[in-house]
Amino acid sequence: MRIIPISLPTPFYIGPVNVYLIAEDPLTLIDTGPKTKEASEALREGLRRERIRVGDIRRIVLTHAHEDHCGLARSLRDEAKDAEVLVHNWETGHRMGRLEHARHRDLLVRAGVPDNEIEAMRRMYEGVRRYADSFEDHEYGALNDEAELEFTNGALRIVHTPGHTPGSCSFVREADRTVIAGDCILKRITPNPVLSPDPIDPSKRFPSLAEYLVSLARLRTFAPTLVHGGHGAPVNDYEELFNRYLRAIRERQAEVIRLVPKAGASAWDVSRALFPETDDVHRFLAVSEAVAHLDLAQSEGKLAVEMSNGREVYRQLAAN
Ligand SMILES: [Zn+2]
Ligand SMILES: [Zn+2]
Repeated sequence: MRIIPISLPTPFYIGPVNVYLIAEDPLTLIDTGPKTKEASEALREGLRRERIRVGDIRRIVLTHAHEDHCGLARSLRDEAKDAEVLVHNWETGHRMGRLEHARHRDLLVRAGVPDNEIEAMRRMYEGVRRYADSFEDHEYGALNDEAELEFTNGALRIVHTPGHTPGSCSFVREADRTVIAGDCILKRITPNPVLSPDPIDPSKRFPSLAEYLVSLARLRTFAPTLVHGGHGAPVNDYEELFNRYLRAIRERQAEVIRLVPKAGASAWDVSRALFPETDDVHRFLAVSEAVAHLDLAQSEGKLAVEMSNGREVYRQLAAN
């Protein structure tokens, strides 16, 4: 079973995205790139190098439903006639073009984001949304944790690795411990735990960073020898990356705790102190990062949180 990476351009700050062709029956594409002419052409060029046409694709598997990964899924599926599209159930309720603004808005209000900033984030999201087609529930099949994607020769184990998004999945070829990890593992940067409603109870937010730590540990149990991420070069030394990520997360947590003043602060206040230079586009990611770390610190008993006028205010513990 050959795993062939194809790099596609994106209009996003992160740069090119990696999609993976599994050149084995049934011919499978893991992620698709964004819905742009440039990505579509680069994908076709990559397939041509392998003497494959879009019409040959039988299965489109999505690591997660961010636009840079899922954008072309619907048009490729339509072109490949009866290709099936697979994505984890937790990814679809508020993604795939059906983001529930009201739910997200509630989360942002609770995090202390001012109304004008929420409006700017909504406009930014509207801009990003055009890079992906939406799907209805009946249009995709579910990726289930621990199930296998079977091929004539070999299989990929589906491993649900939530954190970056609730429904993020990785795929493990156990024979040689190769992993395709989407945005769960990126060689150069620690993936952002994106602020999301909890798929089980959308009135709550998803404990993204706590879940992410579990996902990192879970992938470690496979003792990966090679990890293909959603962006950038593959990772050969998972142990090094794992320890580096944990260190970075702990350092960021300590910084976030330090930034909570005696009088208390919202996640928004902390995000502005953490990333004072951030422009509009990245303020949503900045507040995601702050919320994720504050949540984790609070669940570990390192900070207190209370509601004040519909907003969460974090405080230092009395003993600190
Ligand atoms: Zn992503
Ligand atoms: Zn990505």
